[in-house]
Amino acid sequence: MASIFSRIVKREIPAHIVAEDDRFLAFLDINPLTKGHTLVIPKAEVDYIYDLDDETLSGLHLFAKKIAGALKKVTACNRVAVAVLGLEVPHAHIHLIPMNQMSDANFSNPKLKLSGEELSSIATSLRQALSQ
Ligand code: 5GP
Repeated sequence: MASIFSRIVKREIPAHIVAEDDRFLAFLDINPLTKGHTLVIPKAEVDYIYDLDDETLSGLHLFAKKIAGALKKVTACNRVAVAVLGLEVPHAHIHLIPMNQMSDANFSNPKLKLSGEELSSIATSLRQALSQ
């Protein structure tokens, strides 16, 4: 069965898409730790990130770097934390988490409850920043 992220790639389920090319997709995490928390995935469905071939792995990180630049601009955060966990969804993904202090990137924190409108507005700002 396709992963939930493959279903997002195929637009079978909705997500707030931030950026896309032929190999990679970035979209907002549905349960963000901070405003702008984004997931970056390869479209190819591979569970464990270090099972990706080298070209896809390096491309994924370069794609994530562009998104991190937009996140920093849009959220005015100090840093963008980069994390790979992959315990919930078996489709390789990088978490990009705008942070101002260490505790912002603690996955044990309660998740933000953002409305669809807020998520949509963040995604729009990120897409605009990426297009400049
Ligand atoms: P991990 O696999 O890295 O432990 O966590 C998976 C992440 O994917 C979680 O932060 C979770 O909120 C996010 N997530 C799970 N299902 C969905 C979904 O359907 N849509 C979006 N946008 N994010 C999801």
